[in-house]
Amino acid sequence: MKIEKSLLNIGTSPMGTSLDVIKYEIDSEVEGKTVYLQSGIHGGEITQWILHELFNYLKDNLKQGKVVVVPCANPVSWTQRAYFSTNGKFDFYMGKDWNRNFPGKEDGTLGERIANILICEAKKADFSIDLHTSRQSIPFTIFSKDDYIPFLKIMGIEHNQFIDMGASPSYKNTLNSNLDGLGVDNICIECGSHDAYEPKNVSDILLGIKRLLKSFDMIKGGDFDENSSKIKIFRKGVTYKANKGCLIRLAKELGEQVKSGDDLYYYYDNNDLGNIVAHKSEHEGILFKVSPTHIYWSGDDVLQLLLNDGVEEV
Ligand SMILES: [Zn+2]
Repeated sequence: MKIEKSLLNIGTSPMGTSLDVIKYEIDSEVEGKTVYLQSGIHGGEITQWILHELFNYLKDNLKQGKVVVVPCANPVSWTQRAYFSTNGKFDFYMGKDWNRNFPGKEDGTLGERIANILICEAKKADFSIDLHTSRQSIPFTIFSKDDYIPFLKIMGIEHNQFIDMGASPSYKNTLNSNLDGLGVDNICIECGSHDAYEPKNVSDILLGIKRLLKSFDMIKGGDFDENSSKIKIFRKGVTYKANKGCLIRLAKELGEQVKSGDDLYYYYDNNDLGNIVAHKSEHEGILFKVSPTHIYWSGDDVLQLLLNDGVEEV
C-alpha cells in the first residue's frame, strides 16, 4: 500500500501565494481499476465528511487498484465568502458556474485551468465520482447515460435523476458530460444540503461508494451490507417558482410525497397583510430539493419535485 499526497498547481493569487489543488492517491500496488473521486468544485458544498471516512477505510481495506481523491477540487471558489456563507457555485469574476469550464485549458481562465487539471486526473480513471450538495435536498445521484444504471443499482442510493447531458447545451461543459465524451464511466452525487452535516446521508453515500468499489473487486468487503435495495430512476422533474416577491413557508418536508392539489408552500405578502395564500401542486412526485431561504423575489426557484410520472424501480 502506498499513499501519496501531492499538489496540483493552478496558478498564483495576487498576493503571490501558490494556488494548489490537493490530491491523494491511495494505491494498493496491485493491478486493478482506478476510481477518481472529487468534491468541492463548488465552494461551500461540504461532502468531505464522506472522504475522511472513506480514506480511513481504504487505508485498511484497499486490496486492488487505486483510488484518487481530490477533496477540494476548487480552492478558489471556497474563498468567495460573505460573513458565514460560502458562495462558491458561481465564479464571481466570470459570473459562470464553476462546473461549466470543462474540458478546460492549461493557459485559460482560472476556472479553465482548474477544469483542465481535474479532467487530466479524472480521465485516467475507470470510473469517476463527483460529489456535490444541492440547496437543501435529500441525497440523489445525477446520471447521464442509461449504461450507468447498473452502477446506480450497486450503490443503492434510492433517488436517481437522469439528465440527458449530451442533448442539453447547458450541461455541455460539465465534468460529467466531458467524461462521457472521453468514455470514462461517471456519476455525480448530490449528497444532501449545503453546509450541513447529515449523518444518515454521509453513511448512505459512503456505503454506496464501498459497494461500488467492492463490485470492482478493489476492497475486501464483508464488513458492510453489500446488497442494495431497489432504487428509483426519475426522468422528469419540475421547478416551482415564486409568483411574487414575499416570504414563503413550505407546507411539506423534504423527501415527502406530494399529490396534485396538495399545498406546497404559503405566501406571506406585505401587500396583503393577514392573507396567507397557499400555492398548490399540479404534479405528483417527491419533494427532493428546496431553496435554503424564506426570502423570495418574483420568479425565484422555491422547490423541485422528481415526478412519479415515468419513474422506474429497478
Ligand atoms: Zn455543486
